[in-house]
Amino acid sequence: MAAMDFALTEQQQWIRKEVAALARSFPPEYWLERDRTATYPWEFVRAFGQAGWLGMIVPEAYGGSGLGVTEAALMLHEICAAGAGTTGCSPVHFYCFPPMPVIKHGAEALKQKYLPRVASGEIVMSFGVTEPNAGTDTSRIQTFARRDGDRFVVNGRKVWNTNARQATHILLLARTEPRDAHPGKPFRGMTLFFTEFDRARITVQEIEKLGRAAVDSNEIFIDGLEVPAENVVGEVGQGFYHLLDSLNPERVFTGIEAVGIGRAALARAVDYARERVVFDRPIGKNQAIAHPLAAAWARLEAAEMMCLKAAWLFDQGQPCGAESNAAKFLAAEAGFEACDAALQTHGGYGYAKEFHVERLWREVRLYKIAPVSQQMVLNHLSEHVLGLPRSY
Ligand SMILES: Cc1cc2nc3c(=O)[nH]c(=O)nc-3n(C[C@H](O)[C@H](O)[C@H](O)COP(=O)(O)OP(=O)(O)OC[C@H]3O[C@@H](n4cnc5c(N)ncnc54)[C@H](O)[C@@H]3O)c2cc1C
Repeated sequence: MAAMDFALTEQQQWIRKEVAALARSFPPEYWLERDRTATYPWEFVRAFGQAGWLGMIVPEAYGGSGLGVTEAALMLHEICAAGAGTTGCSPVHFYCFPPMPVIKHGAEALKQKYLPRVASGEIVMSFGVTEPNAGTDTSRIQTFARRDGDRFVVNGRKVWNTNARQATHILLLARTEPRDAHPGKPFRGMTLFFTEFDRARITVQEIEKLGRAAVDSNEIFIDGLEVPAENVVGEVGQGFYHLLDSLNPERVFTGIEAVGIGRAALARAVDYARERVVFDRPIGKNQAIAHPLAAAWARLEAAEMMCLKAAWLFDQGQPCGAESNAAKFLAAEAGFEACDAALQTHGGYGYAKEFHVERLWREVRLYKIAPVSQQMVLNHLSEHVLGLPRSY
């Protein structure tokens, strides 16, 4: 019987060490300034590109490192644990998640054309699924791609399109058949495209938001976007199913990002609790300060373990839907609780930008909403793990 082994391989330990060193070479003030001025962290992204980290999941045959979800998760964790928050991890995340359906389902020519440019960092991705009139019910998206000879012509609207102001390319889900074309199968008839972000045909309108001001999220309006037929990822009409394969890794990535952010906030809080003296004692001597931090540590450890278990299952080619969803759920809670305890530990200074935890607290809140809400995770677990009747 195979032994249960929680140890990281030598290569994984090396990745952690190297990524941590690079990420920590960007001080907290760098992130504060990006947030304050809402400027994209290009220096950070380029540094990761130059060091070869952006091609982590791209197979070696296409110029990447050919590593797994586990290694990519370790990288994203270290970026977040270094204090970069979503401002630092989201741009790198976009090199790990949207290319995945292309790697798994893309035609050879599509892979050869685009993956080396993803691996080198030349391509900047955005990802367009969510729509204002569909919300979480993806089967109701209205963006439509009409076949016209050897190309598709796309019209529609997407919301919360991250990176659209920077993107050179977009992974786009559109209907190619109406929802009722296959009775009882509302998720058929959608097609996935990997295509150039043609600014003559796509208008971008930024959404002002709670956190991560430096990395834009947008509403985009698509008006007659022409996409060559060879830019279809996988099969026409099967796009939603192709995407599904990549959603579990995305849950793992976002989960472990939340853990990393929680750890960055916790480290700051512990330092502060040791140093801040009130009533002639360091505040960390009070259990009302120490216990929430200790509990946060325990919850982060447990959430990380679930993330790594889900990543390991995925890399072994085993089903990991339940574990990936549970990992995202637990990590979003643990990350937020850690940031909240860290903010409280700082008292009034927790509210001040120069102590950095308020930014982490704002940013980590995202993970309870996106890429899938906590409620929808619980819906999934209720139905698919517990076997309870679908509630909606
Ligand atoms: C900063 C940010 C970046 C994002 N980036 C991207 C991106 O790059 N690309 C992209 O495609 N999307 C992106 N998203 C969108 C994100 O994935 C969605 O916001 C998220 O999936 C929730 O969908 P919604 O906002 O439409 O909420 P809705 O579907 O409108 O739901 C609203 C609320 O109702 C709850 N709810 C709905 N139905 C049920 C039910 N049956 N049972 C219980 N509760 C229910 C939801 O959980 C939620 O709390 C981003 C979002 C944010 C905030």
